[in-house]
Amino acid sequence: MLDRIAAALAERKRTGLLRTLRPLSPGRPGHVVRGGRDLVDLSSNDYLGLARHPLLIERSVQWTEALGTGSRASRLVTGTLEQHAEIETKLAAFKGTEAALLLASGWQANASIFKALVKLAPDAAIFADELVHASIHLGIAAAGKRQVRFAHNDLDQLDRLLAEQGPLAEERIVVTESVFSMDGDRCDLVRLSDIARRHRAYLIVDEAHATGVLGPRGAGLSAQSGVRVDLVIGTFSKAMGSFGAYVAGPQLLCDYLVNACSGFVYSTALPPPVLGAIDAALDLVPAMDAERAHLAALAERLRAGLRRRGFDTAASDTQIVPLLVGGEDETLALARRLEEQGVLGVAIRPPTVPRGTSRIRFALSSVHGEDEVDGLLAALGETV
Ligand SMILES: *Cc1c(COP(=O)(O)O)cnc(C)c1O
Repeated sequence: MLDRIAAALAERKRTGLLRTLRPLSPGRPGHVVRGGRDLVDLSSNDYLGLARHPLLIERSVQWTEALGTGSRASRLVTGTLEQHAEIETKLAAFKGTEAALLLASGWQANASIFKALVKLAPDAAIFADELVHASIHLGIAAAGKRQVRFAHNDLDQLDRLLAEQGPLAEERIVVTESVFSMDGDRCDLVRLSDIARRHRAYLIVDEAHATGVLGPRGAGLSAQSGVRVDLVIGTFSKAMGSFGAYVAGPQLLCDYLVNACSGFVYSTALPPPVLGAIDAALDLVPAMDAERAHLAALAERLRAGLRRRGFDTAASDTQIVPLLVGGEDETLALARRLEEQGVLGVAIRPPTVPRGTSRIRFALSSVHGEDEVDGLLAALGETV
């Protein structure tokens, strides 16, 4: 096996796809330090700067001191603290759903939820946007299902596929994301929820990149009026500034997942340091409209500047702004040159994105200022 592993790595290196880990340290807000150099961090998911917010740190420390560093067991055994239950109630109120459930990570939620649902309807058909997160593709495969893929955000095609293939299936499950992590565009959930209702399909939406950032009080696009989603997945690891994930929906759904979702049942409960940070984020985020407006304005400024310079920013209309380059090597070279200019903008390559669409994925934070966006645009002017 080790020979095969070496060959696989060599092949990745030859084709420009080898990835390696590059440590860095947090710097002042919106910055990182790597190799002793200060870099503007334009590629992380800390969209509201909460990962180092004093209230999250304080509550995380308090809860750690009071409750310990570990949760000692899985939720169904002895791992459920009163704090898990309180956060789940708070979270359901935030999302506007009847109930909510904490899970260890978004990856884990997506990897295990489909199997739990498909147990109830083995002949269900699953319809997925072609650009959904790798963990959703994995979860559908783990459920033993072949997915019906529709072209990215092509709701007309989804409507047609549901009409053609839906009636034959025992149940119809549609899955997409409210904000797409690599393109920074949104799904029209008002229209999608109408299509799902018409075809009697069960609608699952992953709000990883919208939670905290978009929708009323930052509750995500599924919380907009006129939208009905059956199961919402989101994370605390991005705008919410810490770690972990949630599922929100009806009480019956959560009761079922407590019994049947392997990623919930067989994994240790989230520990107090993480719970404290989640609790503080849930207190802060609803009132952060000014930060959300600033973030949206920064993203608009960046898109306008990039387009003026002739760059393709795909259909971005959120805090995630891709600069499409195309080839792997050119994208890596651009990321390297930006880093020399003091900007961290990470190259995203296949298999994370389709071949030929390698890009720098810029992701802004409300702690950034206009000067930092303008600095990036100036740096691109120097390098391209
Ligand atoms: C980041 C992300 C996940 C994974 O969440 P983690 O909590 O980091 O495991 C799942 N879905 C989408 C769409 C994501 O962007």
